[in-house]
Amino acid sequence: MINFHPNQLQLIDFVEGNSAPAMALMISAHKDMCPKCRGRIELLESSIGEGIFEVEAERIDFGTMLSDITKLPAAEQITFDQASRGQPLVESIELDGRQFKLPRTLRRFIAKTGNFSHLLGNLWQAPVDLGPIGKANFIYMQKGGRVPEHTHRGTELTLVINGEFSDGMSDYDTGDFILMGGENTHAPYSEASEGCLVFSIVDAPLHFTSGIARLLNPFSHLFFNTK
Ligand SMILES: [Zn+2]
Repeated sequence: MINFHPNQLQLIDFVEGNSAPAMALMISAHKDMCPKCRGRIELLESSIGEGIFEVEAERIDFGTMLSDITKLPAAEQITFDQASRGQPLVESIELDGRQFKLPRTLRRFIAKTGNFSHLLGNLWQAPVDLGPIGKANFIYMQKGGRVPEHTHRGTELTLVINGEFSDGMSDYDTGDFILMGGENTHAPYSEASEGCLVFSIVDAPLHFTSGIARLLNPFSHLFFNTK
């Protein structure tokens, strides 16, 4: 069950087209998986539309008004779909013979996803080229797989694509939307028998905080890297 959603301010920015591109992408992908947020976004879109009608109807010509009202969320405006135009969209990525169906928003990046490589401790990582937005990663934690404890110099946006994981603070399930900032230290791991696949965007290298993993810090831009 989805327990972690974008907050109201993040959704308002999204609907108004003011989200940073990485945030817009994550909210759009979460929306694909979350009926609750689809409803919240529809409500915001219609209330923004009505606001324009009531207040501005006399001053704005109809064409401008209509294009404002029907303005797509930021994530849709960005030309994610050049690559897939005219071709049937692949819906899944594969790891070790297993198919993972992606939310609609992320399918356009399947062709931009590199191969999974095996990292330390039952972790797999596949880099994703988001074009002008930067880079993302699919990270798969096999059962028992653990990302070393780390904090963030910037923000880490994570969407759970399939499975469950914990990070010592909370338990996350398929569809959960997670935003971590510099104040959060965590060590994600999965004990789920099917493991857990997440999609993650970080805007600065992770900073590992404990044990042997601290030795990784000079190289952390190589793991889960950003730009
Ligand atoms: Zn939601």
